[in-house]
Amino acid sequence: MSAIDTLPPLRDVIAEHGLSARKSLGQNFLLDLNLTAKIARQAGDLTGCDVLEIGPGPGGLTRGLLSQGARKVLAIEKDHRCLPALQQISDAYDGRLQVIEGDALDINPLEHLTPPIRIAANLPYNVGTELLIRWLTPKAWPPFWQSLTLMFQREVAERIVAQPGSKAYGRLAILAQWRSTANIVINLPPSAFTPPPKVSSAVVHLTALEKPRFDADAKTLERVVAAAFNQRRKMLRAALKGVAPDIEDRLQAAGIKPTDRAEQIPLEGFCALAREIAK
Ligand code: SAM
Repeated sequence: MSAIDTLPPLRDVIAEHGLSARKSLGQNFLLDLNLTAKIARQAGDLTGCDVLEIGPGPGGLTRGLLSQGARKVLAIEKDHRCLPALQQISDAYDGRLQVIEGDALDINPLEHLTPPIRIAANLPYNVGTELLIRWLTPKAWPPFWQSLTLMFQREVAERIVAQPGSKAYGRLAILAQWRSTANIVINLPPSAFTPPPKVSSAVVHLTALEKPRFDADAKTLERVVAAAFNQRRKMLRAALKGVAPDIEDRLQAAGIKPTDRAEQIPLEGFCALAREIAK
């Protein structure tokens, strides 16, 4: 375990504060500070940036983000048992860490952050996908964040970066890739965590594009993609019947065969269809 700072090793922090992992909070901790520093480096140049972290736990990734030079880390943690350990980090890093106790799904972090803003987290698996979808579907684009560096179950990470024709390709891939670049940057076995989860994990790095890759109304695109992949085995003319009365004509106008299935349609095709439907 490397010394990225003068604070105690994470195993000692956990023992001192009685942070036995709770399954109900999705607690699988990263205790190797080399690894948390590596994840923090994937988040890009943090100097001059505020970083939002969800679920700091005992603070391994938090320490990585601070030691990589983040101007400020705003950490939202639901488990009040973690607060004393996080306070020690805040003291050691001259107050650059602000901690809010609460549920990340209920808290608006923007009141506490100044742009440029990056997001980095070893997410609790039970809220990870919901938070990602919120960050990918704000009212206006570009969003409040420049980049997202997020740990997911490997299967979810694969859905984010999936390409047409694969089983993993669906709503998450389209939402992520329409207005961001998305890459898997680190793969992690269960043994990287304490306690080890049942499945492998991966860190995904997403960078927000200035504007979408292809024009489309966001709400219409979301509606079309949700309907298309809800019944992914059906031909699009059937899966999208409820979306527009003359769906076959619209599909054809968008250059899509009505007999194709959602899985075969690239992002560009869904955007063309959303434009036809919004006409
Ligand atoms: N970041 C730490 C690490 O890498 O070791 C902990 C990661 S652990 C997978 C997830 C963390 O999220 C836990 O500390 C848990 O208490 C916290 N958490 C779970 N649900 C949460 C929620 N809804 N809002 C904020 N934090 C949450």
